[in-house]
Amino acid sequence: MTEAPDIIIRNGRLITFDPEQPDAQALAITGGTLSAVGNDAEIAALAGENTRIIDAQGGTVLPGFIDSHVHLFGGSVELSLLSLYGVQGLDEKKAHILPYAEANPDDDLVFCVMADYDILGTGQTLTRHDLDQIIADRPLAVFAPDHHTIWANTAALQAANLLDGGTVDAGSQIVMGADGKASGALLEPGAYGPILEMTRNKGRDMLGLVTGRDPFPAATPAEREMDKDAIEQGLLHCAGQGITGLHLMDGNRYQLELLSELEVEGRLHCRTMVPFHFKGTDDIARIVTEGVPMRDAYQGDKVWCGHMKMFIDGVVESGTALMLEPYPGDMGAGGNTGEEVFTQDHFVAAACEADKHGFQIAVHAIGDAGVRRTIDAFEVARETNGKRDSRHRIEHLEVMHPADIPRLNALDIVASIQPGHAPCGHIFAPGAVGDYLHRHQIEGAYAWQTIRDTGAKMVFSTDWPVMPVNVMDNIKAAIAPLDLGPDWPDQSQTLMDTLASYTRDNAWVEFNEHRKGQLSSGMMADVVILTEDITAVSPADVPRVHAMVTICDGTVTFERSI
Ligand SMILES: [Zn+2]
Repeated sequence: MTEAPDIIIRNGRLITFDPEQPDAQALAITGGTLSAVGNDAEIAALAGENTRIIDAQGGTVLPGFIDSHVHLFGGSVELSLLSLYGVQGLDEKKAHILPYAEANPDDDLVFCVMADYDILGTGQTLTRHDLDQIIADRPLAVFAPDHHTIWANTAALQAANLLDGGTVDAGSQIVMGADGKASGALLEPGAYGPILEMTRNKGRDMLGLVTGRDPFPAATPAEREMDKDAIEQGLLHCAGQGITGLHLMDGNRYQLELLSELEVEGRLHCRTMVPFHFKGTDDIARIVTEGVPMRDAYQGDKVWCGHMKMFIDGVVESGTALMLEPYPGDMGAGGNTGEEVFTQDHFVAAACEADKHGFQIAVHAIGDAGVRRTIDAFEVARETNGKRDSRHRIEHLEVMHPADIPRLNALDIVASIQPGHAPCGHIFAPGAVGDYLHRHQIEGAYAWQTIRDTGAKMVFSTDWPVMPVNVMDNIKAAIAPLDLGPDWPDQSQTLMDTLASYTRDNAWVEFNEHRKGQLSSGMMADVVILTEDITAVSPADVPRVHAMVTICDGTVTFERSI
């Protein structure tokens, strides 16, 4: 006799992504595997004495969401920091920060996150003098949502030894004021790294992003426990969104070690893919000496290393994304076309080497020149090493030259998009980004449907903590974007395409399409039950839908209390 299932989900509206059986009512889970999918009567007949029956109450049941671009460690740590999301103006900012600073007297640095680039509401960027008006006698710094800029007060700049400027990596910048002192704006990790070292976790949470290397000196046992506790909270937070898998976009061996320990301790609540992070300042040899052994050492079902992450540029909001022509307005002063993180020769060499050694490559590219350079490099890698099923990805591709859009599909490059980041995404103020682009660039900006129509694969994610890891807000951004006026073509996504990009296609992009991303017998038991039938909810109301139950690897990782 076959083993009775551990869990049966009944009375659901299953969207299976299985072409043989696209919808169903019920499924059974045995161990870590989906053992049957069918109608209520068929599945109920399988129940044994100890089978747990979950009534989905007519809600949608999907393969667990996979967020294919997150910064797990940083996002986890930030859950306990003060978020300035939605805060506008210096007074309001002060009202939030002062009580937080008082409540955390032991922090070496008062550190807040999610500070909007236009937080003063004046089009003026923050300076140390603005922050000195909030707190002058203690180091204070605030992080932009995209993690590309930190603004610090004078005390923080002094403590971090940055007040008089200094030399930093290519692509990073300590912005200097007219008085010859640092203005307070620190662009990119090479500039703001010393500030992060003053945070509670001493910047260990950001090392995977800043250097891709391990903490030095090594974390103490107490620090490791502190870091693991934070990450576990982050994983539980993700499970609460219906997420069962995460593709990290920063990484180092330290994170792989912590995640593996959490797995052994039964505290890993989502599957995690961690990258080898290759920097513009790294030697090509590092790919073989460090990247390959790191990847080969971690190949589990729940913790693994499979991709190499690179950044080719910065972000539009700080004028560091690489553009084909100078930015409009002040940002284009001096002919500014952005900051080069890699020389193109070095970037192409890195892409060829990583491709040769079987890495999937994921490149942060935001400006039209950054995206073009990335496509060019992938093309050279294919010509050099031969065509293979590489599934190389471009992360963000916010602004593309229209001529480059068909090249994605032609070269089998995956478009990895965060719908919530767009000015039409309801998450960030819509006004500003339009001002950073020339009108003729808008046609190729956030061109989701145009990209999809070419046949290119598209995967969706949040880039948490750039925005909250909330799945439904991101889905709303895709299916019910704000109307930004006649200059902006409608790029709305269908609900089914969006759900596929968040589940099936995210499983595909990690080369796991035979094991997950579908509700069919034999697949991994990663499942989410939603509180409603999402197909019956109007697009704008989707955020009222929540995860009711999340199951990862056959284990319930989240249950909504009623
Ligand atoms: Zn990212």
